This record gives sequence, structure tokens and C-alpha cells, in this order.
Amino acid sequence: SYVLVTGATGFIGAHVVDNLLARGFSVRGSTRSKAKGDQMKAARPQYASQLDWVVVEDFTKIGVFDSVMDGIDAVIHVASPFFYDTTNNEQELVLPAINGVKSILSASAKQGSNIKRVVMTSSFAAVVDVNTTPPAGFTYTAADWNPLTYETSISPESNSVVAYRGSKKFAEKAAWDFVRDQKTSFDLVTLCPPMVFGPVVHPVPTVAQLNESNSVLWSVAAGADPLPGARVPAWIDARDLAEAHVQALLTPEAGGKRFIPASSEPFSYELAADIIRGEFEWGKKSVTGNYKMGEKPVASYGVDGETVSKELGVEYRPFRETVVDLVGQIKALA
Ligand code: NDP
Repeated sequence: SYVLVTGATGFIGAHVVDNLLARGFSVRGSTRSKAKGDQMKAARPQYASQLDWVVVEDFTKIGVFDSVMDGIDAVIHVASPFFYDTTNNEQELVLPAINGVKSILSASAKQGSNIKRVVMTSSFAAVVDVNTTPPAGFTYTAADWNPLTYETSISPESNSVVAYRGSKKFAEKAAWDFVRDQKTSFDLVTLCPPMVFGPVVHPVPTVAQLNESNSVLWSVAAGADPLPGARVPAWIDARDLAEAHVQALLTPEAGGKRFIPASSEPFSYELAADIIRGEFEWGKKSVTGNYKMGEKPVASYGVDGETVSKELGVEYRPFRETVVDLVGQIKALA
């Protein structure tokens, strides 16, 4: 099989690429940057014959993927704008996310029955209602959607975190609408991970270029004071998330379903600080220790990651392993 992966030079996309390659699949990565694609290929000489790249400059233009689908049987759509230093919420976050989905799905639909399945990376941001305190014992499941309106998402009054939540919700909705309205011959699986952390396998030349979620975790190791507050209490390791994507592609019964891949172990940046101080000599100095465990009240609710374990067969790594693997790797870069 031959799988097209968008966002393949990003943090999560590169792990998806590696998981597919290790299982023997051929992979076509799409990126805006030929240099990053070349760098990833050069770093994987053993997979030279299984990996090729296509440069798609602006993936929001309908039609740009049409010419890169030759021989492709399945698509994993990971690419979406994920950064918070925006000046225009609609132009930089919301519309690119939605149009990227429409663009990849319309190209897939033109392939007729050649494409069997599309897996898409949505986000727990499309699930969680951050403005409501859930009742004690509440557990979010894949049936939940954040209640943001499009107008609020794009409003200049909204900060970029709100706009990002809207971008993920409306991009995922666009995907479900597309397969329903066009009656596509492929089916869709969406994954809604919470915070994703872990070692990087994509090109990261400097610490400043680390992806959004890992850079917050790294800031703890670098001595952030006060520690960042966790927006959601749930997380997953990028390697486990990659496994979930590929299992979502290969499990017939997953078709048409939405999943939340998430470890059942809660996390906080205080816990990360403790792990870093305990595991690294330099960490004792760097992390100030000027915090109390659980000092900042993190929203308390459960997140159903068990359905993914059961239905996709994914086992979750412990938070300690994720923190040690990322922080050890980035320390060597810093
Ligand atoms: P990265 O920023 O590392 O990767 C995002 C990728 O998307 C980049 O490689 C980039 O590809 C591509 N991309 C971004 N904007 C555009 C655009 N306007 N046009 C074309 N391509 C674009 O982030 P992550 O790997 O962390 O995120 C990947 C996905 O996972 C996103 O959909 C994100 O919403 C989702 N997610 C991430 C979480 C996290 O904690 N990290 C949590 C939940 C969901 P290139 O530069 O090569 O063109």
C-alpha cells in the first residue's frame, strides 16, 4: 500500500511517517518545504525506496493535491496551522484549516475507489468545552463537540487559542460534511488527541523551532517561572499517537468513527518539573522548584482514551518516559 501523509515534516506527521515505514508501507509526504523533505529522506537511508516527497506550496487551494495522488491507496491528513502568534484569526488559522481539508478530500474523491480510507488529525480542542465546569466525575468522549460558533472563532476579539479551537472544530466538521454530502467511496476516521509530547523525529534545527506543544514542556526544563498552566489535563506521546493513526487506517471497523487517543495517566507541568529534577543532574538547577504539586487547579474531568486502546489496540507510554525522552533530546540541542 502507498499512503499520502500531509504535514509529514511536522512533529506528529513525521512520527506517522516512521510508523508506516517501519511496517513496510510506501509513503508520500507532502510539505511546503522541499528542504525539510530532503532532510527527512536523508535521515532515513534504509527507507530510501519507500519514501518520496511532493511539495505543495499552498494546500488551501482546491486542486493542488489532484496531481500527487497517483498510486495512492489511503491518506493521513495531519497538516493544519498550529501556532498562536497570529494577527488574523480567520486568514491564518481558521480558513487554512478548513480549506486544507476540502482540498485533500476533493483530491481523494477524484480518485474514485482507489482511495479506501482517509484518517484525519483533529484535536481534543474540537471536543472540550473550556467555558463550562463539568459535573464531578464527567468524562469527555468522542461524542462531544466544543460549542464555539464560527463567528466567535474568527472574531478579532477572540485570542488565537480560541481561534485554533475553532479551526479544529470547523475543519473536522467540514470533513464529516464532505464524506456525507459527496457520498465518497472512501470512509473517514478522525482522531482528537489532547496535548501531544515526545521526542522529535522531524527536522528541528534550533530549540526556538520546536513545535508548539513540546516547546511548552521544554520551557519547564528551561526554568519557566511560574510554570505554564495546563489547558487540558490530558496528553498522549507522539509515538503512541502515530500508532493510533496507522491502526485507524488498518482497522476495518474504525471507518466512520471519531476517537480520542489519550493516556489515562493525568499530567501537569508540576509533574513534568518533578520528573526533570529527579532524572537529570542539570535539571535540579534549571527547574527552580519554586512550585507546589497541583498548585494550579487544572480542570478536572476524565477523557476516554480507553476506546482507542480497545478498538485500535494502542498501549500508552508512561508520562515519565515521554518527558525523559523529549527533554534529554532537546537538552543536547540547546
Ligand atoms: P507542527 O507545526 O509540527 O506540524 C504541522 C504541519 O502542518 C507542518 O509540518 C506544516 O507542514 C503543516 N502546515 C501547517 N500550516 C500549513 C499551511 N497553512 N499550509 C500547509 N501546511 C501547513 O504541529 P503538530 O505536528 O504538533 O500538529 C499536527 C496536527 O496535529 C495539527 O493538525 C494539529 O492541529 C494537531 N494536534 C496537535 C497537538 C499537539 O499537542 N501537538 C494536539 C492536538 C492536535 P510544512 O511546514 O511541511 O508545509
